[in-house]
Amino acid sequence: MIPAAFDYVRAGSAEEAISLIGQHGDEAKFLAGGHSLLPLMKLRLASPSVLIDIGRVQDLSYIRDAGDHIAIGALTRHMDVETSALLKEHVPLLACAAGQVGDPQVRHRGTMGGTIAHADPASDLPATTLALGATYVAQGPNGTREIAAADFYQGFLESALEPDEMLTEIRVPKMHGTGWSFQKFTRRAQDYAIVGVAAWRRGTESAVALVNMGSTPVLAEGVSAALAGGASVADAAELAAAESDPTHDLNASVEYRVHLAKVLVRRALEESTH
Ligand SMILES: Cc1cc2nc3c(=O)[nH]c(=O)nc-3n(C[C@H](O)[C@H](O)[C@H](O)COP(=O)(O)OP(=O)(O)OC[C@H]3O[C@@H](n4cnc5c(N)ncnc54)[C@H](O)[C@@H]3O)c2cc1C
Repeated sequence: MIPAAFDYVRAGSAEEAISLIGQHGDEAKFLAGGHSLLPLMKLRLASPSVLIDIGRVQDLSYIRDAGDHIAIGALTRHMDVETSALLKEHVPLLACAAGQVGDPQVRHRGTMGGTIAHADPASDLPATTLALGATYVAQGPNGTREIAAADFYQGFLESALEPDEMLTEIRVPKMHGTGWSFQKFTRRAQDYAIVGVAAWRRGTESAVALVNMGSTPVLAEGVSAALAGGASVADAAELAAAESDPTHDLNASVEYRVHLAKVLVRRALEESTH
């Protein structure tokens, strides 16, 4: 599988990358870890005319304590998120989910910015950051703006990013003693989730987000509303698929995905109470 011909340029900073995408227009694409874009190019499902390599923009590879949240640079690799002492202390759900992405090779190459910008509903970290109420920072020719995770995912592989914008930072609120769980159901270790669940609970508050249950990551708001209203975990979990719209594929029928979502949400909520 050989991709269509493309030009290649390397950016040394976010500013240079944004200037380059402005010059090359809609046909250009950023290349971060390449672990989602290059497979699409090899299948000829994407044929950018220019690749702007941002993989060596070192000043966007960081995990910092920013008071009420942890700030993660877009070029931070999944492996750094998985092993970060700061995240294990303050946002352990995200560190755990990052450790479930693919295999070590994928986690050493793939980036936080890449997986969020790619907006694949089958990916683990878009749903996890959605459950955590994260904010994404985008930088474009006219400056920076913040986009709430809840407003970011607009369709299959479609996000609120403009073509000339680069995702530069992911801001994740600290969890403050919250119970949490990440559940991922796969046929083989290291596969994408057939269905996944990222959940947290603190008193009557909770959030539950689903992986691979629709064209975007899905927030199961009915589950949280039921729990807040005093429903049992078992009854709340029955509402797991209410907001979702899953499809069938080689791994699962729609009915099977709905069943999995209910079972995994129940497990996640039970684990989150400990
Ligand atoms: C074998 C294999 C198994 C995998 N398993 C899993 C899994 O189990 N779970 C999971 O969640 N993921 C999995 N992945 C995907 C992996 O996590 C990818 O690395 C990730 O989805 C994309 O990150 P990337 O840095 O490689 O992005 P790239 O492939 O470089 O880019 C993806 C898209 O995002 C755009 N982009 C990248 N960075 C930015 C930015 N900063 N601003 C704006 N646009 C940007 C690119 O232009 C492109 O359109 C797997 C991948 C492979 C190859």
